[in-house]
Amino acid sequence: MKAVHEAINLREGNLIAVYLCEKGVPAEVRGGAHHSVRGELYNIRGLLPEVWVLDDADAPRAKAFVQDYLELLRKAPEGEPWTCPACGEVLEPQFQSCWKCQGERQA
Ligand SMILES: [Zn+2]
Repeated sequence: MKAVHEAINLREGNLIAVYLCEKGVPAEVRGGAHHSVRGELYNIRGLLPEVWVLDDADAPRAKAFVQDYLELLRKAPEGEPWTCPACGEVLEPQFQSCWKCQGERQA
């Protein structure tokens, strides 16, 4: 087990973990449990959610995938987040299907 990314929030951590799993790198999110306790704790290192790979050998390529993903987010097309019609998950505009249930975006 090895941490490959410190996420700004649990949502970003989950998105990256799912992205890594889709790329064939088993990953999970750890930590971040103290988020809502007190605002000033938010930025203290160690309390932010981290994305971990289950196999240390995957860490180098996982880090490359994380960079790709963050780049993808920066290049995100203009648009509004959309809500999955199947499960109600709110998704970023650059996604065409729901990461949670694979539901397709409605035109
Ligand atoms: Zn969905």
